[in-house]
Amino acid sequence: MIQDISPHVYDRTYRQDKATAGDHVLFYEKGGVLLRKQGENWSVPRFSDFTGAEEELTEKARHLFNIDGESYYLARSACPGQREEFSWCSLRDVRSVRPMEVAFAAVTGSQLARWYRSRAYCGRCGTPTEWSTLERAVVCPKCGLIEYPKICPAVIVAVTDGDRLLLTRYANRPFKGYALIAGFTEIGETLEDTVHREVMEEVGVRVKNLRYYKNQPWSFSDTLLTGFYCDLDGDPAITLDHNELCEGFWMERSELPCREGDVSLTAEMIERFRLGRENEKPENP
Ligand SMILES: [Zn+2]
Repeated sequence: MIQDISPHVYDRTYRQDKATAGDHVLFYEKGGVLLRKQGENWSVPRFSDFTGAEEELTEKARHLFNIDGESYYLARSACPGQREEFSWCSLRDVRSVRPMEVAFAAVTGSQLARWYRSRAYCGRCGTPTEWSTLERAVVCPKCGLIEYPKICPAVIVAVTDGDRLLLTRYANRPFKGYALIAGFTEIGETLEDTVHREVMEEVGVRVKNLRYYKNQPWSFSDTLLTGFYCDLDGDPAITLDHNELCEGFWMERSELPCREGDVSLTAEMIERFRLGRENEKPENP
């Protein structure tokens, strides 16, 4: 999955250090992120790649996180022009960027960039906010409101009925592949409540015997996904929510396409079911 970057190490420690020329810089413009591509290998540019603009860029940039001790900064000025090997990679295409630590850096940075941008003003009194000097938060200098990064809990549900898995396809979304039931947790709900409600809302069936599988930070949609397998409870007839889905159907284990190598928890859960391993304890718990 996209966060599985071992042996590389992600360090989210909040730092206030000023950027230096050798640090990485993440630009988010034109609906994408600026990356360098050399052959099949992607990387994140460094400030030193922008000769002549280094000083202004490093002065304004803010630290986001480290990977393997190397610092990644968010650019807070427009990209001052790019070299031939650089390209704007849409966030959707970041899914196929390799090595994985570059994809992870690009998408994780995008969630922070989006959040900082959307919290430029205090939601309570409208005053321009400031970045906290103590922690990853923005604060309102007038009324004191503190806002932390937005992470929305959500569930991914693999509903099984013996050797059949319930698959769906989203309506009105760019992703056209098979999906599992998914939905955001609402206020006052447990994750298990969300599973029961979302399955009933999207496909109209009951489920039982919920088994937690793994979770995944999914920065594409500001979510923390929690994956569950569960068993059909009673009638398998599907009643589709056509606002959310264009298709919902049962597929035999033997007919499932291979999803090896995909970056998503959804794909890993489908693949695990295909291999008959859905009741095994996950690796690296
Ligand atoms: Zn305020």
